Amino acid sequence: MASKRVVVLGGNFGGLAAALEVKHELGDEVEVQVISASDRFLFNPSLIWLPFGKRSARDITFPLEPTFDAHGVDFLHAEATAIDPAKRTVTAGGRDYGYDYLIIATGYQNNFAVAPGLGPDGYAQTITTLADAERAATAWRKFLDDPGPVVVGATQGAACFGAAYEFLFNVSYQLRKAKLHGQSQLTYFTPEPFLGHFGIGGLPGGQKLLSMFLKKEGIKALTDVSVQEVTGDQVKLTDGTSLPFRYSMVVPPFVGQALVRSVPGLSDEKGFIPVDDTYQSKGFPEIYAAGVAAQVPIPWQTSVPVGIPKTGFPTESMAKVAAHNVVAAIKGEPPVAHKEFAEMAAVCLMDAGNNGVMILADHMLPPRRAGIMIPGPQVHAMKLGFEKYYLWKSRHGYVRLP
Ligand SMILES: Cc1cc2nc3c(=O)[nH]c(=O)nc-3n(C[C@H](O)[C@H](O)[C@H](O)COP(=O)(O)OP(=O)(O)OC[C@H]3O[C@@H](n4cnc5c(N)ncnc54)[C@H](O)[C@@H]3O)c2cc1C
Repeated sequence: MASKRVVVLGGNFGGLAAALEVKHELGDEVEVQVISASDRFLFNPSLIWLPFGKRSARDITFPLEPTFDAHGVDFLHAEATAIDPAKRTVTAGGRDYGYDYLIIATGYQNNFAVAPGLGPDGYAQTITTLADAERAATAWRKFLDDPGPVVVGATQGAACFGAAYEFLFNVSYQLRKAKLHGQSQLTYFTPEPFLGHFGIGGLPGGQKLLSMFLKKEGIKALTDVSVQEVTGDQVKLTDGTSLPFRYSMVVPPFVGQALVRSVPGLSDEKGFIPVDDTYQSKGFPEIYAAGVAAQVPIPWQTSVPVGIPKTGFPTESMAKVAAHNVVAAIKGEPPVAHKEFAEMAAVCLMDAGNNGVMILADHMLPPRRAGIMIPGPQVHAMKLGFEKYYLWKSRHGYVRLP
């Protein structure tokens, strides 16, 4: 008979890992329920390929229920609409679900309010959710019939720079394939203080390598800039520069989910949950947070605000620490402290169409002892292989594999 109930909100990178880890550890001693607004797992890193028809939604998603069923985890496809920490309940689909421990892995929302003209009703495309990337695909097909200048960038406060760079280089590759490279000027704009900062302070040789890549592809770049507004055919920057486009993709800042922001004392003003090194919420010890939902303090100031990318690898690490500590709490054992986000290793494969760059560093954020960027076509092949492996591992619930 299950004595404790663990509810996990979100079933993607963080939620899937956390739920299965708790269940694998405690088996019948625990009842684990995942409540997720999406009924599918989405491999977000492949969203960069959707607009070019290299991937469809089917290729990069799988249904969550069979995976959770196979591992004895109860799955509810519903958006959680309220959390009551005093009563220890979550409301979803009009019902209340009690919990002893709650793990929040609800990820991010786009903050399109950062500048007018962004979002589904605006003029620039984005690729950070499945629906966004599908719209960006429709727009790309139209663009190919009536090509012109292309502007790719990230707004002030954005964090997902890897995706912006990957999309940029994939556009360049696609323009070449469509024999449009000469006639479509490609421009990149970014709040990063220098090319290759990535929101993680840059890596040795990174700025030089990125500058070389951009020069080779004939891409114009503007760093340290912010967006005033996007109109039907221009990205207007706050310094008065106008970047004309026929196709534009802009990465906005991420904020936490409205649900998280609605709970007094749970999150910061952006909706991210302040956590201890045990990944326990600072406000509510029986609530844990992992992945993008967790707050990571930004250790520097740039003249234009730049966020920190909470990528898949640290998300899984955070989820496993949160799960481990829920298990410890249930067993009456002391929690383990984990490395802070800044001290986790950075492992990233950045795709460039038929080429790429591998980023490896001992620490996510400086100071670092080691950091390297390795360019080459093998990185593109590795990224393709990694996608297949990650989807296979997650679909089968093999969350203990690396
Ligand atoms: C375009 C793009 C490219 C990327 N490329 C890379 C890459 O190359 N390498 C890398 O490591 N990382 C990459 N990332 C980052 C990676 O996708 C994130 O680190 C990861 O998605 C974070 O996982 P998460 O579980 O915290 O949040 P998410 O993946 O955002 O999952 C959150 C889940 O919670 C659910 N949810 C939200 N609100 C509620 C609610 N109220 N109730 C119930 N459920 C809810 C959502 O439906 C979703 O399923 C990329 C991200 C993007 C957008």
